[in-house]
Amino acid sequence: MRRILGTQPAHAPRVYGARRGRDRLTKDRRSWNMSRIRGKDTTPEKRVRSFLHRLGFRYRLNVKIPIAKRTSHPTSPVPLRGGVRGGFVRPDIVLAKHKTVIFVHGCFWHRHRGCKNCTTPTHRRAWWLKKLEGNVARDKLHQRALRKLGWRSVIVWECQTEKPKTLEQLSRKLAKLLGA
Ligand SMILES: [Zn+2]
Repeated sequence: MRRILGTQPAHAPRVYGARRGRDRLTKDRRSWNMSRIRGKDTTPEKRVRSFLHRLGFRYRLNVKIPIAKRTSHPTSPVPLRGGVRGGFVRPDIVLAKHKTVIFVHGCFWHRHRGCKNCTTPTHRRAWWLKKLEGNVARDKLHQRALRKLGWRSVIVWECQTEKPKTLEQLSRKLAKLLGA
């Protein structure tokens, strides 16, 4: 555990004050955000998998769950490109025995409301808003489709995995939820 935590990149400093009102994310911080969404084995995911493993849960990764194809979200203000692409959802972690899936969401990309990491770049703000709200709409669509098939979706936010204390709370919550 300590080894995993040790490899965690530190938060890049955020810019306040002088550039107030401008893009508050520094370049470093933004590229770090980007690296997190791109990589398949993001660190928050690894941490969640690590405690699930310790709790004795067996899970599978990269499982495609087929869902009904739709062209758009009925209540989404944002058109979803192609709706649910390919007609499947690939959650980060699948606990088939518990009919539960876990999504480990980045706070920036999936808009963790009220979270300090849920920022909106001011440069090309409209473009970013459309993109980020599109992600949120797609997440809802996926969860709804899974729920219809009897799957329970659990959302874990990146920030919940960053400190040992919150990770511990998360671990207990999940254990309870899964009946460990
Ligand atoms: Zn967050």
